[in-house]
Amino acid sequence: MMSADPPVFRFAPSPTGHLHLGHAYSALLNKQLAEEAGGRLLLRIEDIDTSRCRPEYEAAMLDDLAWLGLKLEQPVRRQSEHQEEYRAILEQLKAKGLVYPSFASRAEAKALAGARGPDWPTDPDGVPLYAGPERDWSEAQKVEALEQGEQVAWRLDMLKAAEMAGPLTWKEAEEGEVACDPRDWGDVVIARVGSSTSYHLSVVLDDAVQGVSHIVRGTDLRAATAVHRLLQTLLDLPQPTYRHHGLVLDEEGSKLSKRDGAQSLAQLRAEGATPTDIASMVGL
Ligand code: GLU
Repeated sequence: MMSADPPVFRFAPSPTGHLHLGHAYSALLNKQLAEEAGGRLLLRIEDIDTSRCRPEYEAAMLDDLAWLGLKLEQPVRRQSEHQEEYRAILEQLKAKGLVYPSFASRAEAKALAGARGPDWPTDPDGVPLYAGPERDWSEAQKVEALEQGEQVAWRLDMLKAAEMAGPLTWKEAEEGEVACDPRDWGDVVIARVGSSTSYHLSVVLDDAVQGVSHIVRGTDLRAATAVHRLLQTLLDLPQPTYRHHGLVLDEEGSKLSKRDGAQSLAQLRAEGATPTDIASMVGL
């Protein structure tokens, strides 16, 4: 009899600061669910943003995770080591005519959206949808701007992409099929300036390459699942099951941030907390 492959879970932090109780909850929940399912748990270091990621944060993260009791399979996947793979799938999207070069800086993009007036829509994270003109440029205009060597990001032509993919849903644990509409996000950045990728593109490729079948992550990323399902569909990648968990909040009811040193695992460890204390602090 053929045995099915074991489920694969992953924890995917970005080394932009120290891990806090919210990360501990996500990591320990992934560990618990992987153990219950007889599955594997992988670590992925999401370090494509070289301006914010630091090797010392990665080292501290690995130390905190080992201390928490996570046994991590080696080698660990580091996004910064896979630019060529991201470039290859970016080329696939270019070949399908689904991305366009975009030359506006963050400040210019904000001004372009502001010029559309107060009713201009925002994405689920509250950022105004991209309102720049490049999607409607002729090929000649795009080539000319590219040849001038301007700083370029690549954006998804969302209306075209959503039409090509058709209606989308994702499988959410304990809920079932959830209908989603990636058009809520507008023309998202697929490759940042100076890179061949973005969070959205890397995450879908990495989950496929690593054979991830179960994505367990915070509810702050739930809305982004629409973009991930769109890219998985366009790039013919497998569909994982998702579980979006609640966030650990601070005393004022706000989401924890890596800047909030008091809640960092390093600080709690220094104050004498044990891994068991951390698990009970996050309700596991
Ligand atoms: N790297 C992301 C973060 O630290 C998580 C990405 C994901 O789980 O899809 O928030």
